[in-house]
Amino acid sequence: MKRIGAHVSASGGVENAPLNAQTIGAKAFALFTKNQRQWKAKPLTVKSIDAFQENLAAVGIAPEHVLPHDSYLINLGHPEAEALEKSRNAFIDEMQRCRQLGLKLLNFHPGSHLKKISEEESLALVSQSINLALEQTDGVTAVIENTAGQGSNLGYRFEHLAAIIDGVDDNPRRRLPRHLPHLHLRLRPAYQSSL
Ligand SMILES: [Zn+2]
Repeated sequence: MKRIGAHVSASGGVENAPLNAQTIGAKAFALFTKNQRQWKAKPLTVKSIDAFQENLAAVGIAPEHVLPHDSYLINLGHPEAEALEKSRNAFIDEMQRCRQLGLKLLNFHPGSHLKKISEEESLALVSQSINLALEQTDGVTAVIENTAGQGSNLGYRFEHLAAIIDGVDDNPRRRLPRHLPHLHLRLRPAYQSSL
């Protein structure tokens, strides 16, 4: 069954996102579990987590059909060590937030080389970042989103996605999203059998 949804607001608390999805008739949705333009976020409260799960159940959307999106600040292929570490820590925090909410997926943009290292080097850093995150978390799959390739962003060629996946240790928690905003139709037959 196909499910159609949209990125919905979590303003006022993540628990509002399922209700916002219901308002637009969505059968699936994406959300940010924290402010996507800030590094720091308050930990999710038990009250907020419980309300999220209650609302999700009430609107009849399964956790598998929710695709959280990570912060725009995170760059898992960052050429500078300090900034890379900051990104990796923030990504792991986001994976843990998803886990707390009972969600299974976290959508991320591959990263950017910022014209300081080669595409290949940056792609290798992305893979290492994913390896670290999967090692340190449990139950959440990292879902790569392809990009349109603005600036020095990686992920605009199928080969980029292949390079990242090749560099990720064999792990059932690596996979391509079912919905790729820009390459959806062309990629679908190629990866569907591996899901
Ligand atoms: Zn995105």
